[in-house]
Amino acid sequence: MSGPRPTVSWNIVGGCNYRCTYCVQKHMPGIGGPTDAQLEAALATLTALPGSWEFKISGGEPFLLKRLPEVARRLAEAGHKVSLLTNLSAPLRVLATFIEAAGEQLRTFSCSLHREEVEEAEFLEKARAVKELLARWPRATFVVNGVVVPGQVREVAASRERFERAGIKFYPQLMRVDGKPAEYGWVERWRIDRAFGDMVSPSRMNRGYALKGRLCHAGSKYFIIHPKGDAFSCYPGKRFGDGHLGNVFDGTLKLWDAPRPCHYEVCPCTVPQNRGIIEGFGGGAGEDAVGF
Ligand code: SF4
Ligand code: SF4
Repeated sequence: MSGPRPTVSWNIVGGCNYRCTYCVQKHMPGIGGPTDAQLEAALATLTALPGSWEFKISGGEPFLLKRLPEVARRLAEAGHKVSLLTNLSAPLRVLATFIEAAGEQLRTFSCSLHREEVEEAEFLEKARAVKELLARWPRATFVVNGVVVPGQVREVAASRERFERAGIKFYPQLMRVDGKPAEYGWVERWRIDRAFGDMVSPSRMNRGYALKGRLCHAGSKYFIIHPKGDAFSCYPGKRFGDGHLGNVFDGTLKLWDAPRPCHYEVCPCTVPQNRGIIEGFGGGAGEDAVGF
């Protein structure tokens, strides 16, 4: 198995232009994006990280940050890789600018279909255009996530067929409520398995694992950045506060220099699970579009 693949989950903007009723972030009222000075400070720190890291940029909606294409360009120029999760609402010309800015360093371009906010036909048309733009960059992968709202499993299954007919990878995204998987009735669970059972263990998506005691590189080869600039080793490290690694806006980021045994009861962190960050667990799954 290859070693840990250094990865940052950068939650670059708290706000969103959509108001999905099921939003786990509750649109983070009052938490916008970084100021110009904060962004400069963050980029100075992050472009200087040794080696090649993959930056998985999300929000809120990351394109609310007008300088997002510049962020992609500067990370790419520093030798880092760039992945993105967006609701695809930005104008196509802005999406094109971002794609060109990340260029050959672009990896996963992931977008979520939120039917409460957008017509599927319109979204599909835009997704096709993005797929064409990405064709120039062979290392980039394009993925559409369909949020599986309880009661709408059949609709999402039909979407999957339409997107796959257009040659676009489509993943069902099970919902979380208060950090736990949403309640799906037994009929819906059956429908989920029937519609998506051939995909990467969909009925196990969004699941936590008991990894307490395993040696984990979160904090040294993986970290998350909150819109206010605070960095944490992983999601439990943020929730319990003991994984605080400083702040990228004030130059205090300090990564741990060695792996540590996990001391949390449950690991919900799909990115470390899929990137070889946790010793002896996962690491071979490749792109983890669902667990962005
Ligand atoms: S697009 Fe995403 S972040 Fe925005 S409101 Fe919907 S679920 Fe929340
Ligand atoms: S919760 Fe997961 S990512 Fe965090 S320290 Fe434990 S194993 Fe590592």
